[in-house]
Amino acid sequence: MFRRPRETVNLNPAEKSTIAGAASVAERVMCQLPAFRARLPWRTRLGFWFAPPRCYACGGAGDLGAIDLCAACLGRWPHRADAAAPPSLQGVVLHAAFDYREPVSTALRALKFQGDWRAARVLGTLLALRRLDRAAPHAAELPQCLVPIPLHPARLRERGFDQAALLARHIALWSAIPVRRWLRRTRSTTPQTELDGAARRLNVAGAFAATDAARSALARGDIRRIAILDDVVTTGSTAAAASAALRAAAGAHGRSLDVQCWAVAATAKSTTIPTKITSPT
Ligand SMILES: [Zn+2]
Repeated sequence: MFRRPRETVNLNPAEKSTIAGAASVAERVMCQLPAFRARLPWRTRLGFWFAPPRCYACGGAGDLGAIDLCAACLGRWPHRADAAAPPSLQGVVLHAAFDYREPVSTALRALKFQGDWRAARVLGTLLALRRLDRAAPHAAELPQCLVPIPLHPARLRERGFDQAALLARHIALWSAIPVRRWLRRTRSTTPQTELDGAARRLNVAGAFAATDAARSALARGDIRRIAILDDVVTTGSTAAAASAALRAAAGAHGRSLDVQCWAVAATAKSTTIPTKITSPT
C-alpha cells in the first residue's frame, strides 16, 4: 500500500506543501496504474509475470506490479506538482514529471552516461504515466507524436546510445504515441551543463534541422501537435531551438505547429522560464 513520507516534522509550510503535492501525484499514479497496465501489449504484460519488476531505488520487490519502483519509493520521489499554467518558452509548453533532485538526478545520470536500461524504463514509464494522468490539467492535450532531441552523430558514436531515444521507447509503449526521429543536429555543441543561461542559448541556436521525413509529414498538415522529448530541462534553450527547426519546416508550407516539451525532470530555474528571449547579439 502507498505510504506517505514521514520525515515532515521539521519542515516549513512551503516544503510540506511540496511534499503533499508530490504524495498526491504518487497516489494518482498508483490508482491509475492498473488501467494503463491493462492496455499494454500482451507480450509486455507476460514479461512482468515471468520477470517481476524490482524497485530501482531500494532493490526491494516492485510491489506495483508494472513499474520498477515500490510504493514507498514512488511516494518519496520528487514529483512536480501540477501547474494550471505550465512554464513556456517561445510557445513551447514544458511538462516535466520530476524536480531535478535526488534520487531522480542520480537515475538520470545513470541513463545519460552509462545507458542504464533500468533507469530508462522507470523514468520513461513514469513520465508517460504523468502525461496520461487524467486528473492533471492539460491531460487532453496529448501530442500526435514524440520527437526525441537527437545527439550529434559524433557523440552518438562515442557514447553508443541515445538517452532520449531510450526514454522514448518506454513512453511510446505506455502511451501508444508514435516516436518520430524528425530532428538532426546540424553541428556539434558544447554540453549545456558546462554553460550558463546566455551561453546556452547561443550554443544551441540553429543547432537543429528538420529531417526530410519531417518536412514531408509537416507539409501534409495532418500533424498539428507534437512533443519534443528531452531528459532534463534547465533554461529551455534546447527545446526552443529544436522547436524552431520544426516550426520552420511547418511554416514553409503555411502550417502551424503546437509544440510541447516533455522532460523527465526540470531544474528549479525551469519554473521561471521567461515567455520570450531576446536574440543573442
Ligand atoms: Zn523501493
